[in-house]
Amino acid sequence: MMEFRQAKWDEKLLFEYKGKEMGNSEIDLPEGVRRVKLPFPNLSELEVLRHFTRLTEMTYGIDVGPVPLGSCTMKYNPRIAAKILQSDKIRNMHPELLKVGEGRGILKMMYDLQEWLKDATGMDACSLQPPAGASGELSGVLMIKSYHIDNGENWRDEMIVPDSAHGSNPASSSMGGFRVIRIQTDDRGNIDLEALKAVSSNRTAGLMLTNPNTLGLFEERILEIAEVVHSYGGLLYYDGANLNGILGISRPGDMGFDIIHLNLHKTFSAPHGGGGPGAGVVCAKGKLASYLPGYIVEKAGGEYILKTPEKSIGSVLSTIGNLPGMVYAYVFLLAYGEDIWKVAVHSTLNTNYFLSLLRDLKGVTLPFGTDRFRKHETVISLKHLTEETGITAEDAAKFLLEKGLHAPTIYFPLIVEEAMMFEFTETESKEVIEIYAEALKELIEASYREPKTLKGLPTATSSRRLDLVRANHPQTMKPSIVYGVRGEGKEV
Ligand SMILES: *Cc1c(COP(=O)(O)O)cnc(C)c1O
Repeated sequence: MMEFRQAKWDEKLLFEYKGKEMGNSEIDLPEGVRRVKLPFPNLSELEVLRHFTRLTEMTYGIDVGPVPLGSCTMKYNPRIAAKILQSDKIRNMHPELLKVGEGRGILKMMYDLQEWLKDATGMDACSLQPPAGASGELSGVLMIKSYHIDNGENWRDEMIVPDSAHGSNPASSSMGGFRVIRIQTDDRGNIDLEALKAVSSNRTAGLMLTNPNTLGLFEERILEIAEVVHSYGGLLYYDGANLNGILGISRPGDMGFDIIHLNLHKTFSAPHGGGGPGAGVVCAKGKLASYLPGYIVEKAGGEYILKTPEKSIGSVLSTIGNLPGMVYAYVFLLAYGEDIWKVAVHSTLNTNYFLSLLRDLKGVTLPFGTDRFRKHETVISLKHLTEETGITAEDAAKFLLEKGLHAPTIYFPLIVEEAMMFEFTETESKEVIEIYAEALKELIEASYREPKTLKGLPTATSSRRLDLVRANHPQTMKPSIVYGVRGEGKEV
């Protein structure tokens, strides 16, 4: 275990810079990095309090209302986990800075979590270290790379990724040094198996697959897909960021996958963003387990120890992982126990109930596998509405904001035109789903009646429409707060 090294201030260093005293304006700093004087406002405590309270009221999150962002799995973050995290035993303890024999409880929790996640996914070992889904993906991609290199097959330079994939899949593949081979989705919403066969070769390093995919559809021929990739010596990577649709019902390990990642901050109830970093656990089967990143908690002679896997790709974070995220997942799994399948059943029921309310809605279509049930999420298309009224998925999202509802994910996956992607999860009620279906009905009516008004929405939010071009090109945005580090930084 690491030794804690106390940082020591070197007084001399602190007060001397190039032989000159601190605070002396003659310090030879380049123009661009000099601090400018900030015109701090002079306000009373009450004014400051009101300012910050108003800011908190402008924030929208899962504690305020539903956030049906497809692919993001925004569900309730149980307060019991937050309460446990506030205990001194957890807050003041850092597993890497402990002496042997200390922090057994935390290591046991990590060990149990590893065991439960292995059981839920059909994998042989898990590393809790990666701090995000994308970090888990990059770990998995590097594991695939190391594995092929160790087998003397360094010519395998192609990663196959379907066109319905989350953007992080091609990005991780490319960061790992692979060529991304894109294959299309067929009419039923599955991977085009013939296309997969056509692009597979002995250059195939692996296939990155999300199942159920981002359309909410389960691959009907998953075993054949696995067989094709394996027959060429490639590996199967499972993007398990959103496991809601199958949790406790089917397992990636049984589908033929070799490596997977899970997002504790989606499926396993840890908060996104504000609650700290994410947690993108990565798990592997068989020989691949020895390539996992970071540390694995093992049991040895009655003690729990942290062990680096034999051929580990190394660490992807400076610590053992995001402990708060693990506590949420631990509490979540402990609470559900053997009833964990209810997550999949209730989230799937919610998705399909929502779709049933949209049936026959003018201008709205269900692309791909029209006759199939969805799992954890669904994607609808407003293409016809746009053609008939000019109202786009973006306009529809603004309409929902105007009504005080958080919008779904829009324009993703890329294979659906004017896409709106809804995911309610198991923690939203029937009433919430009905409110959204009703709002969409109102939107459709308003689109045919008064499209011009809709183009001017939202008016009731703290920000109106953003300039999308500027939002996509940060360098063209004029920052509203500039700290005094840049030469031009005067605006506050
Ligand atoms: C969210 C998500 C990811 C990435 O997870 P991050 O924690 O945001 O890095 C990857 N794949 C899918 C399908 C996702 O929904």
